[in-house]
Amino acid sequence: MCFTAGAIPMLSERVKRVQESGTMKMKELAGQKKAEGKKIISFTVGEPDFDTPKHIVEAAKKALDEGHTRYLDAPGLPALREAVAKEEKASNGIPCEASNVLITPTKQAIFETVLATVNEGDEVIIPDPSWVTYEPCVQMAGGKAVPVRTREEEQWRVVPEVVAELITPKTKMVLLNSPSNPCGAVETHDDIRGLADLAKDHNLLVLSDEVYEKIVFDGLKHHSIGAEPGMMDRTITISGFSKTYAMTGWRLGWLVAPKPIFKGINKVQQHSITHACSFAQYGALAALTGPQEPVRAMVKEFQERRDLIMKLMKEIPSFKCDTPKGAFYVFPRYEGKMNSEEMALYLMDKAEVGLTGGASFGPAGEQHLRISYATNKKNIQEGMDRIRKTLA
Ligand code: GLU
Repeated sequence: MCFTAGAIPMLSERVKRVQESGTMKMKELAGQKKAEGKKIISFTVGEPDFDTPKHIVEAAKKALDEGHTRYLDAPGLPALREAVAKEEKASNGIPCEASNVLITPTKQAIFETVLATVNEGDEVIIPDPSWVTYEPCVQMAGGKAVPVRTREEEQWRVVPEVVAELITPKTKMVLLNSPSNPCGAVETHDDIRGLADLAKDHNLLVLSDEVYEKIVFDGLKHHSIGAEPGMMDRTITISGFSKTYAMTGWRLGWLVAPKPIFKGINKVQQHSITHACSFAQYGALAALTGPQEPVRAMVKEFQERRDLIMKLMKEIPSFKCDTPKGAFYVFPRYEGKMNSEEMALYLMDKAEVGLTGGASFGPAGEQHLRISYATNKKNIQEGMDRIRKTLA
């Protein structure tokens, strides 16, 4: 092998193209400040503050005690795949079988799906604003993220007519996320039907990230696009345990894909993480098959927190925000000269409150802040008081 003198080769162009994760960056900064002794209230990362329900923890402990610590097949524990298929059919109406289900962390599911389906130069339509990781996944796969502007006045919905205008011969996929991060928007059934028609008319794939599917408020219903007629063949539905069961650190979720796509995604799984953590999957099985009361209790608490934060927000004259219908984020617009990153850093510094600047979620998020209210009511009260006083 021959080496030439000069600069040591460093990062790939692929990685240089992508931004650091705005949510993880602010979480880490809040952590650093706390370590320095600051009394930071963190509304940064979207992580339920509840403990994982006991029976789930016990099931994983039992799996460890019973020696379930070896390799599994790449798609995951057969009983868990079966349970996910049953759940997706029963709750969302997606016509799937266990053989369509792959167990993997939700973020990994998105990455694997994009890597398995998007070619160099393919276009993927992504809501703007939307979660910080979608665009980097597309960019790392060599695709082009095409933002579809969503608007506060339209409750941040992904409107089919607006998506239609962006479709070109290069469009491969539309990425949806309802309930949405960072806006807490919930797509209407009419919009879902319209988006399904578009996908069929233009022969597109749909990646539907439904990780907040259980966290919907005011009696609203979540609709899965994979349940619409003819959509199972072209939809990859992704969801997970992190948000619904307070299992963020377990790194477990799933995807449901039509067979030919499943095979491709499974190759990526085999060659990357092999499979998701074995004993954790026993805990996840208990989550799906055990009592759902803890989920109902957590969702009820989230709705109360949403109501509280909306009430407190009205006391901040420079903030304006419609009531979100799902997930656990509010996304207020603020008045002021600072851009959203400067504003987030200013509030971290002056109010000792951590949150994420809206522009991390796309250009349409500028002049907004994302506040995760997955923390207790005392923190919500104190954090919003501090913001109000700092901005007064
Ligand atoms: N999805 C969560 C958030 O938006 C977790 C952090 C992340 O992976 O971005 O805060």
